[in-house]
Amino acid sequence: MGRTEELRRRDKAVLWHPFTQMADWEKDDPLVMERGEGNYLYDTDGNRYFDGVSSLWVNLFGHGRKEIDDAIRAQLSRLAHSTFLGLSHPPAIELAERLLAVAPPGLSRVFYSDNGSTAMEVAIKMAFQYWRQKGEGEGKKTFLTLSEAYHGDTIGSVSAGGIDLFHKIFRPLLFSTRRAPTPHCYRCPYGLSRPSCALRCADMMEETVRASADSLAAVVVEPLVQGAAGMLMMPEGYLSRLRAVTRERDVLLVCDEVATGFGRTGTMFACEREGVAPDIMAVAKGLTGGTLPLAATLTTEEVYGGFLGRYEEFKTFFHGHSYTANPLGCAAALATLSIFEREDVHGRVSRLSAVMSKSLEAIARHPNVGDIRQLGLMAGIEIVASRRTKERFPPERKVGQRVARKARERGVILRPLGDVIVLMPPLSSTQREIEDLVAVAGWATGEILSEETSGGGRPTDRAIP
Ligand SMILES: *Cc1c(COP(=O)(O)O)cnc(C)c1O
Repeated sequence: MGRTEELRRRDKAVLWHPFTQMADWEKDDPLVMERGEGNYLYDTDGNRYFDGVSSLWVNLFGHGRKEIDDAIRAQLSRLAHSTFLGLSHPPAIELAERLLAVAPPGLSRVFYSDNGSTAMEVAIKMAFQYWRQKGEGEGKKTFLTLSEAYHGDTIGSVSAGGIDLFHKIFRPLLFSTRRAPTPHCYRCPYGLSRPSCALRCADMMEETVRASADSLAAVVVEPLVQGAAGMLMMPEGYLSRLRAVTRERDVLLVCDEVATGFGRTGTMFACEREGVAPDIMAVAKGLTGGTLPLAATLTTEEVYGGFLGRYEEFKTFFHGHSYTANPLGCAAALATLSIFEREDVHGRVSRLSAVMSKSLEAIARHPNVGDIRQLGLMAGIEIVASRRTKERFPPERKVGQRVARKARERGVILRPLGDVIVLMPPLSSTQREIEDLVAVAGWATGEILSEETSGGGRPTDRAIP
């Protein structure tokens, strides 16, 4: 047995992979990755693959980026970890200062944790406890969330989530939230055309906040892009109106920038694009450039102040993790921020984003491509059985998965969300790599759809342009 075969056999004997149907995995020939260099991953047979989803949205500047790796090594030679409960350390202090310097105005405090889910868990508990301790906020106990939201996989973040496929089964374990429909105008929740949909969604959101402000601790959203839902884009103006009405009615705004943060959309944080500064903001994924698990929840002096008091009042924020503010992660994050300072990352993303839009035009013509959504270097290609009715292929056809699998034959790693093909290349991609990525995604989509629409599959309305 070859080495790769042997590794696959051992993997299948002992492992359980996240978000993976292991019965399928056991029948498959999964890739075993051994090395990363720049925007590419290399498997144990030495094959090279373009990292088309930035290793699940975390990688910013490629693998093995020297400045980040060196910073981790240097920190490792000093201190790998010491607790943050009652002690501090230089990289965490410096990182907090530098994060706040690039964060939206008004954010002035940093609470560390280890991943996006816990950063959101912290955000939710922080908002809740803040109102409990504020006096006039007794009634403010619930959260207004969006349908199709994704905030992570721990029970609190799942409670704020709205993707039935991931979340429904856990419903008996979850706290209930108020839910507003996602402002997604390709499938408008009110059945309206695009411009009317955008307005109606924002109007309804405002109305809901005004009507329920006394019971709301916070509104929780992924600003501009609901990533895990399939790259659903908020219409322009929605977020800024939400900010205005939450300010007006004294409801906290929590922005989950875990996916959108650190340049992915063309600005440091997505909420900047609408001039929005949240009361609480969660960051993770790109924070360390895709090297180490570290997360942070940022908040204002106002929220922070609500936790100050005499020791015996127990207004303490009772939350923390063994690896809170891990120094290696902080060092990696500092090196990541330095790259943003030295290089014109946002300019680069904006140029690459235009290249991506241009390349995507060719795919948009395919009769089974229902919608293409893109902001910066985050894009989703939604495949539908019928463009006219927007009907989806049945899940057992596994169209999205098959497209991703097909793309491997041309050396590209993709990970779809249902039948939405996600493209989220590293910010360090070249123009050529972006063009190739889109071309491969288009080719793979075409191949699978022709299998699907000739034998085996079901008829589609191919004639409709
Ligand atoms: C990925 C993601 C999370 C969860 O982050 P993890 O580090 O995977 O726990 C939370 N919110 C959003 C918007 C995400 O994309």
